[in-house]
Amino acid sequence: MKHLLTTRGIPVKMTSLLLSASLLFAVLFSGCSSTDPGWSEKTETVLGTISHIRIHSEHRPEGDTAVASAFERVQEIEGRMSATLPGSQIYQINAAAGRTGVTVTDDVLFMIEEGLRHYQLTDGLFHIGLGTLTSLWGLSTDRPQVPEREAIQNTLAAIDIETIEISGSDVRIRQRGTAIDLGGIAKGYAVDEAARVLQDLGITSGFVNFGGDVYALGEKPDGTPWYVGIKEPIPGSTGLVGRLGVINRSVVTSGDYERYLADENTGERFHHILDPRTGRPASNELVSVTIASGTALEADILSTAVFVMGLEKGYRYVTDTPGADAIFITRDDEVILTPGLRQDFELMNEAYLLTAYEPPPVSD
Ligand code: ADP
Ligand code: MG
Repeated sequence: MKHLLTTRGIPVKMTSLLLSASLLFAVLFSGCSSTDPGWSEKTETVLGTISHIRIHSEHRPEGDTAVASAFERVQEIEGRMSATLPGSQIYQINAAAGRTGVTVTDDVLFMIEEGLRHYQLTDGLFHIGLGTLTSLWGLSTDRPQVPEREAIQNTLAAIDIETIEISGSDVRIRQRGTAIDLGGIAKGYAVDEAARVLQDLGITSGFVNFGGDVYALGEKPDGTPWYVGIKEPIPGSTGLVGRLGVINRSVVTSGDYERYLADENTGERFHHILDPRTGRPASNELVSVTIASGTALEADILSTAVFVMGLEKGYRYVTDTPGADAIFITRDDEVILTPGLRQDFELMNEAYLLTAYEPPPVSD
């Protein structure tokens, strides 16, 4: 426990701690020999994070080609959906807000449609129309700042997701004030697409890890699951809370400790997951939420949305979503699992306590 207290007690300067480049997960490759000639791997900085693909194949040259093709697809996705690259489709939609629509490619359309669908499913807590608010906080820049209360209120008041209109493959924002930000969805989609490209090229065993958004393709060559290390939710820590064994499943974590701005006087952390009801970083009993699901797109969306919901609502939401499971870590260092993960998760850190949880009955 002691290291937790001392780490948290250190006053952090009012400077940006953009740590997105650090890998959120450690991947445990126990049992895989790195001298095995069947492995191909590559690391690139893409989607604002360190992205790593490692696969096993019968023929090494084909394996290397498959990994390169997967990264090409990811570069293409980034070029289309980035909110800050002037050439991207999302940038163009936002720049044309209040004026015209923009014809988009199927992948961008799919991400926007999925974003809008999950806005409905989460009662507005997953919100892809917060672009003007994320810009106000400077979340995708290296100079985030805490805005004035009034600026937050004014920006929030001008946001209306209903003004995002889709007609065929044209996307238009009817009114200025709303801007699309796919930051909570694109990395997951890119992970799925990388895995799809690998599979299309015949790869049956591999691991895709884009800054902690993971997809475990098949099993390891020795027939055991891939193990995903769940990082300790403490800034700068490389320690693990535990590990999760997965096969053909995605694992994604959202937390308040990776990318944030800290107030040196109060210690308050202003992180990058915003509560659309307040316009401020979500604040509840959770420090991290890990979602396991069949697709990284869903896991990415749910990790962000459930982090905003908090434990009680989030636990219900995940257990009501077929195929999804969660690991919640609370401020009190409790680790709570949904029933589907109890066989697959192994606690590896005695500073944390595996705690049984049942949400209170819903009162209407
Ligand atoms: P990370 O990018 O570190 O994996 P997340 O997947 O949780 O983190 O996504 C956070 C990003 O999603 C933010 O940087 C912002 O672009 C966007 N975002 C912030 N709040 C929300 C929200 N309530 N709903 C949807 N997207 C959000
Ligand atoms: Mg996410």
